Amino acid sequence: ADIAMYEAKQAQRRVAVYQTGHDETHLRRIGLISDLRRARERDELRVFYQPKVDLRSGRVAHAEALLRWQHPALGTISPDEFIPLAEHCGLIHEITAFVLAAGLQQASAWREDGLEIGLAVNLSPMDLLDARLPDRVAGLLQAHRFPAQELILEITESTVMRDVQSALITMRALRALGVRLSIDDFGTGHSSLAQLRSLPVDEIKIDKSFVMRLDTNPEDTVIVRSAIEIGHNMGLVVIAEGVEQSGSLEILQRLHCDMVQGYFFSKPVPAEDFRRWHDDFQANASTRSEQIA
Ligand code: C2E
Ligand code: MG
Ligand code: MG
Ligand code: MG
Repeated sequence: ADIAMYEAKQAQRRVAVYQTGHDETHLRRIGLISDLRRARERDELRVFYQPKVDLRSGRVAHAEALLRWQHPALGTISPDEFIPLAEHCGLIHEITAFVLAAGLQQASAWREDGLEIGLAVNLSPMDLLDARLPDRVAGLLQAHRFPAQELILEITESTVMRDVQSALITMRALRALGVRLSIDDFGTGHSSLAQLRSLPVDEIKIDKSFVMRLDTNPEDTVIVRSAIEIGHNMGLVVIAEGVEQSGSLEILQRLHCDMVQGYFFSKPVPAEDFRRWHDDFQANASTRSEQIA
């Protein structure tokens, strides 16, 4: 009875909040959803790029496309806030199509300009339930004459697992095109190892929460070492995201992690800045190896 009473009171409070309009987060969400519908035509969406560095070759393997929304009144809105809203109001397919098209156009321009680089794009869980996605990806690859195996799609672990059977159909169709798949934020979901084994993926990306404090947290080293072993035993490429300190990078090298990404190398930046950063990074890399030789 106490619980029922408590719940009734909570419900009343919620109604009061709506009536007086004091629920600021709710109002913000409603406002953002209506603005988001117009964000693209108003040219407020920008794709930033962050390098994924291959430790085995010392080269930048992919540029990961990360979406930014420059809201005219509220400033930059984080994708962690607006992507869930886009999923909620049915805009996500349009947004995914936009990022894929913009990213492939940029990456093809780079390749024509001598920068041999792949592209990573994040997918929403809802994209995996969209039966038209593989055809759309195939069309974009063709339009940009972009090699399928240079495109890697990052799928958040927790989201694949929600409806594995439907997700699997889309994942297999994407992979049949030659596109590669990555499990993003690895370690944060509830996947069993058996499920993981049956997923058609090429890469796991260890979540930054295990990597950011790697240089000072011995417990994190234990987790990261296990994740790398699991990935390698399954024949997958293992990348760590959230590398901020040189100490963490050294640990990852010692643990034979294949690839790394994080602020230690570069934050996500606009395309022009990415190119400049890349050319500097590669020039320094060759100077480094000349000095050793
Ligand atoms: P994610 O794909 O796991 O991307 C990694 C996030 O961590 C990015 O945040 C990146 O800026 C940040 N990050 C990278 N290196 C470091 C580091 O060394 N330290 C710290 N503290 N953070 C680092 P961002 O760009 O805000 O994106 C957040 C999430 O939003 C992404 O996580 C991804 O799940 C989603 N997202 C971003 N762009 C898109 C998109 O175009 N489509 C979809 N569906 N989701 C997107
Ligand atoms: Mg990602
Ligand atoms: Mg991630
Ligand atoms: Mg994430």
